[in-house]
Amino acid sequence: MKVTEMQETLIIPEPHNLINGEKVPSGAGRVLPVVSPIDGKTFAEIADSEASDADWAVSVARQAFDDGPWAKLTAAERGRLMMKLSERILEEAESLAQLETKDNGKPIKQSRSDMLIAARYFEFYGGAADKFHGEVIPFMDGYDVGMHREPHGVVGVILPWNYPAQQIGRSVAPALAMGNTVVLKPSEDASLSGLRIAELALEVGFPAGVFNVVTGRGDVVGKALSENRSVDFISFTGSPEVGTMIQIAAAKNFVGCTLELGGKSPQIVFEDADLSAAIPVLVNALIQNAGQTCSAGSRVLIQRSIYEQVVSELKSRFEAIEVGPSDEAAIIGPVISEKQKHRVEQYIARSSEPVIARGKIGENSPEGGFYVAPVLFGPCDPESEIAQEEVFGPVLCVIPFDDEKEAIAIANGTDYGLVAAVWTRDGARQKRVSKALHCGQVFINNYGAAGGVELPFGGVRKSGHGREKGFVALHEFSRIKTVVDYYG
Ligand code: NAD
Repeated sequence: MKVTEMQETLIIPEPHNLINGEKVPSGAGRVLPVVSPIDGKTFAEIADSEASDADWAVSVARQAFDDGPWAKLTAAERGRLMMKLSERILEEAESLAQLETKDNGKPIKQSRSDMLIAARYFEFYGGAADKFHGEVIPFMDGYDVGMHREPHGVVGVILPWNYPAQQIGRSVAPALAMGNTVVLKPSEDASLSGLRIAELALEVGFPAGVFNVVTGRGDVVGKALSENRSVDFISFTGSPEVGTMIQIAAAKNFVGCTLELGGKSPQIVFEDADLSAAIPVLVNALIQNAGQTCSAGSRVLIQRSIYEQVVSELKSRFEAIEVGPSDEAAIIGPVISEKQKHRVEQYIARSSEPVIARGKIGENSPEGGFYVAPVLFGPCDPESEIAQEEVFGPVLCVIPFDDEKEAIAIANGTDYGLVAAVWTRDGARQKRVSKALHCGQVFINNYGAAGGVELPFGGVRKSGHGREKGFVALHEFSRIKTVVDYYG
């Protein structure tokens, strides 16, 4: 199906928030345009909400938590509802994917995969809801000590635009599984799938007020949500700059937060690597989602003895890449916005590192869309801006190294620490290097694990803190109360 055909079946929602189970306009009745990155044209509107809309949603979520039916449901009942939502997302996967592609610009195949992953999160955490519980602690004679696991209360979820539906699954699902209520603030650049998923939650029987959505600007709605004293925990995914503000807001209210921030993730290729397996992955780990992936493998470190060979393979692959309008054929689509396109182009223009290869913008990419031709830079100075900063676009840096020690030093030599890959057949080296890397996930002879819903994910330093995905996320979205009962 071509993008033009897809538009015929697209259901464009009216601008609204979803508060207490109702679709409501923003308090001031203002809207923001929704621009499709594919052609740069406005095709919808979202509510441009006020701080008071966020505050209202929080008060509703508070009430749903304190007095509403949510708290009275058993964990198994909560889990069942979440699994119903998972099934409903799967039923609507195609229309959700079309909406996501139109809104976000990602290739339709990627959007379809995102919906499957979003559904999988609700299935995974729905299944986990009644299996993650407290413990009894053996203590002194005459005491019965229980470690109870409780929800925080109201969780504020603030998300970016790059994987909107997946990120809802990643943050909202574990929060709900633990019995919290949620106010979601999606990115102003990609809010539509979030509104629809929350609507589906109501359809399958989630009580009103449990899963609320408020759209609008970050410095208004996101700020109000993060500063609201009735919010008990914040799950933030986005840039380090905003993450710092969230952390300050959380600290002022003495509440916890998880920060899932950016990355400059290294893929280290040793001379004994299986290059036929590595090379396609080295490219895909960067170009997926036009490089707008927090865990993009945006630095490829290559041992000097195989540098020329690997670079020549990467060069021919980069030259063959054609950026397209996110239809069935597209592997790489536009970036999210005019602003992001400009930002990426500025990074490319400013860099004085050598350009090895550049992809093309396909002729069928509409005028006005936000297309950036991918660039392969190298050999890059590991300290250069392009090799240090997160570009969040289709830009790959290659860096040669001589030995394991130098590879580790370069890999750890940015402010970030999210993900890394090690390509080598040497088992001992796999262990040594993965142990020495400062980051939250290491992939050995693979990359990304197709989203890896079950695999704990998060960063160190400027990549953030806390872990989402997998069972461990349930620790983040709950807290422990120790009850000491003396029975004599
Ligand atoms: P961003 O930080 O600009 O925005 C993220 C969210 O925060 C948006 O909803 C925005 O409206 C909101 N926001 C903006 N200002 C705010 C404020 N003052 N107070 C509260 N909220 C505010 O990030 P972005 O441009 O949407 O996304 C790109 C960034 O996200 C990249 O750095 C990327 O690496 C990161 N990211 C990280 C992960 C991860 O899991 N580690 C995943 C995806 C994206």
